[in-house]
Amino acid sequence: MKAVVLENFGDERNLRFVEDFPKPQIKEDEVLIRVRAVALNHLDIWVRMGALAVKPELPHILGSDVSGVVEEVGSLVKNVKVGDEVVVMPGLSCGVCYECQSGRDNLCKDYDILGLKSKGGYAQYVKVPARNVLLKPKNLSFEEACSYPLTFLTVWNALVRKAQIKPHSKVLIWAGSSGVGVAGIQIAKLFGAFVITTVGSEEKAKRCMKLGADVVIDHYGDDVVKKVRELFKEGVDVVMDHVGEKTFWKSVECLKKGGKLVFFGTTTGSKAEIDIRYVFVREIELLGTYMGPRADLFKITELFERGLLKPVVDKVLDLSEAQEAHRYLENSKHFGKVVLRAP
Ligand code: ZN
Repeated sequence: MKAVVLENFGDERNLRFVEDFPKPQIKEDEVLIRVRAVALNHLDIWVRMGALAVKPELPHILGSDVSGVVEEVGSLVKNVKVGDEVVVMPGLSCGVCYECQSGRDNLCKDYDILGLKSKGGYAQYVKVPARNVLLKPKNLSFEEACSYPLTFLTVWNALVRKAQIKPHSKVLIWAGSSGVGVAGIQIAKLFGAFVITTVGSEEKAKRCMKLGADVVIDHYGDDVVKKVRELFKEGVDVVMDHVGEKTFWKSVECLKKGGKLVFFGTTTGSKAEIDIRYVFVREIELLGTYMGPRADLFKITELFERGLLKPVVDKVLDLSEAQEAHRYLENSKHFGKVVLRAP
């Protein structure tokens, strides 16, 4: 099959488009999917660079967010059939341990993400366990459908489960134009929250307002903490931080007493300094999150089907242009998701 293969860790030039990679063989409880589209995530970049504690065996295939058509099903598979149009739940777990059985599969001892250790969707075919396949919302194209699972699931876990946002919550979302940013704005607005977000350009500011943000701050030109404190003297209830080192402490400073910081990304590095006393005296909650429970993706998918959440696809390229897609994402030129179309 055609695929983009990672042969060595490093920059995007290590991604090579090949035509003769072996097609995956499924087991009795697995599904083979003919990939139609695969969305990029920052995770792809970290895996590509070999920057994570967990590294895949090389040669590897990246890609967590997949949409496509069921090509083949194992003998035990009942939830989908050949020809079904589907999206993939990228979180892979054992399905039988205590955490999996308790609906906290993202804490499974064997947790993996498609494209992290397991071979992902930068290819014509990908295999996943049957329980990781959901029917695609009919109103979305394949390019749109692959754009939401990982980011929306992560953000749902952070804002809804951990931060427990409510209609009166004041929420700050860093980098509103990123994949998780556009998810954050929409999910927070869905719950009736007041949303402040940050962007790096006028054009992106307009698009965030269109998505529902109430206030947009320029994270290059403005002092974000000062701006937030001008809006709300006491600070905000919730901050969602996926930027990491550069913003972590600013996030804490934007919070009111008893506020919650939900965080899960490290685009700018992972060593943040914390004044512990400031955190405990103000009873600030630091809530790390990692992906989210599988069940929530069913809820999210239904919200897309009902038009209450909207996919934001910035750019669609061919799979053979994976190198260019990575450069585009790394240069932060995007608004929403970058998608590769399978050949
Ligand atoms: Zn498990």
